[in-house]
Amino acid sequence: MKKINRVAIVGGTHGNEFTGAYLAKKFDKFPEIVKRDSFETLTLLANPKALQAVKRYVDQDLNRCFASKDLQNPSLNGYEPNRAKEINQMLGPKGNPKFDFILDLHTTTANMGLSFIFVRNDPFNLKLAAYLSSIDPSLKVYSWIDPGKEQNFINSISEKGFAIEIGPIAPGTLKADIFQKTEKLTQAVLDYLDKYNQGQIPDEKMPLTVYQHCKYLDYPKTAAGELNGMIHPQLQGRDYEELQPGDPLFLTLDGNTIYYEQEKPLNPVFINEVAYYEKGIAMCLTKKEQIYV
Ligand SMILES: [Zn+2]
Repeated sequence: MKKINRVAIVGGTHGNEFTGAYLAKKFDKFPEIVKRDSFETLTLLANPKALQAVKRYVDQDLNRCFASKDLQNPSLNGYEPNRAKEINQMLGPKGNPKFDFILDLHTTTANMGLSFIFVRNDPFNLKLAAYLSSIDPSLKVYSWIDPGKEQNFINSISEKGFAIEIGPIAPGTLKADIFQKTEKLTQAVLDYLDKYNQGQIPDEKMPLTVYQHCKYLDYPKTAAGELNGMIHPQLQGRDYEELQPGDPLFLTLDGNTIYYEQEKPLNPVFINEVAYYEKGIAMCLTKKEQIYV
């Protein structure tokens, strides 16, 4: 068993997601909250400039700047690409990191509840999620792996770790219940890592529901590429629920309903996430799987 020696808790990767940013500030001010005996903990406010501007990013999405070729490209400039290189120096380098475990704290405008976002189905991450979801069954796991594509999230620096997403919450706001839930889950993750280091995690297989990424759906668009519709009212807020063939997806500006027409049911997540309009993502479609880890 390889011990976890260094843990990074990252907040404010997106500057308008206040929960993670202000938790990072809180942990920085009161480090004893995140201190555990068996490993070193670092708290990092990832995108201070975007936080100051109350924007997701200044030049480009920091959480898409961690592809190896971009980190190694000296001519790639802008605030976030440079910041990604700094963070990679601090926590990484990617592939051979100084920090064994990275926990990145996010929020979403979608009704995701408390979710773990995995960038790889690492057995350690899966076991951790199975253990924590046995304590809190409302916890969801979205495994966001695009086949054939290198993951470019900050989490991809190390093998272990993931992002926490919680929502719905508007950008640029703090809400006490969301703040407290994220803090509590962060503590639970740290406690798990501490127990793991001390050999106290039971070595038994546990069930886990994983929502495996399948594909993206974009909003209805005009021929000129302009938005021509919205999430159908019957779908809004129904993240993780099964979408059946024939269920409504979108309502167009001229009042027509667009239906889900695939053969197999899938489970949408990140429905109507505000930051994904520019990415051409109205929702991510996932396949619900029950595994034992
Ligand atoms: Zn985010």
